[in-house]
Amino acid sequence: MRLRSVFCLFTFVLPAFAQDPGKPSEKLIDTQVGALPIIISCPHDGTKAIPDVPVRMGTGIEKFVVVRDTNAGAIAEELAKELETRFKAKPYLVIARFGRKYLDVNRPMDGAYENEKAKPYYESYHGLLKEYSQAVQKKWNRGLLLDIHGQGAESETVFRGTNDLKTVKALITRYGKPAVVGEKSILGHMAKNGVKIFPACDKDDPEDKRYSGGHIVQTYGSHTAYAIDAIQLETGGKQRGSGRKEFVTKLADAVEVFAREYLPMEAGKKPKADK
Ligand SMILES: [Zn+2]
Repeated sequence: MRLRSVFCLFTFVLPAFAQDPGKPSEKLIDTQVGALPIIISCPHDGTKAIPDVPVRMGTGIEKFVVVRDTNAGAIAEELAKELETRFKAKPYLVIARFGRKYLDVNRPMDGAYENEKAKPYYESYHGLLKEYSQAVQKKWNRGLLLDIHGQGAESETVFRGTNDLKTVKALITRYGKPAVVGEKSILGHMAKNGVKIFPACDKDDPEDKRYSGGHIVQTYGSHTAYAIDAIQLETGGKQRGSGRKEFVTKLADAVEVFAREYLPMEAGKKPKADK
């Protein structure tokens, strides 16, 4: 996959990068501009150090976590590739390559980093998500953001993170809950294909508090001015490990079915669900 480095993009936009571009050979955020109303984000699978930034200590930070979501980035990349093949167009993509132990972009700025030299990378990650969300909203008047994570609790389960449906408010308003858990939804379609989903799609249980959706879906979800329906997907260890190929296929199948039903995938055409 050809991904451009964020340094190319922001050298001209953010003065912080012009002054302090770090080591140009190090790509700390991979990104691509899309031509679909779909944005894929992956904040926690990076391994690289940020120049001159020590490991975070987490003193006084609530729910301090530095563990890597191993291979969540591969899922994000492979999903993007699958969607490109199916739709002959790329989704937007933002993948952190810096380690979470240096910077956690899925937190509000206060608590995301402990050294000011990490701040430009925080701003770059969110600058991209902001730019892409606005571009999608402007062009398609709706869109989907998938924030891909990994959890260590249940190796074969995907935990849904929408702040109990808050970050998918527009989808629910337009089409009702089936657009989030029904057979043509992403989670419902995966469930139909044998992927364990929590909360179960046929139940009204609340989401697991540990995985119910962090700062990214809270910032860009359709309850906000960005108005992009945002879902955090917390994937299991097997789905990121030995079962990854099969899982990515099922995820891509589900996103394709969802997109053809609920997103305007062709210019000037309404989603199927609108007809
Ligand atoms: Zn994560």
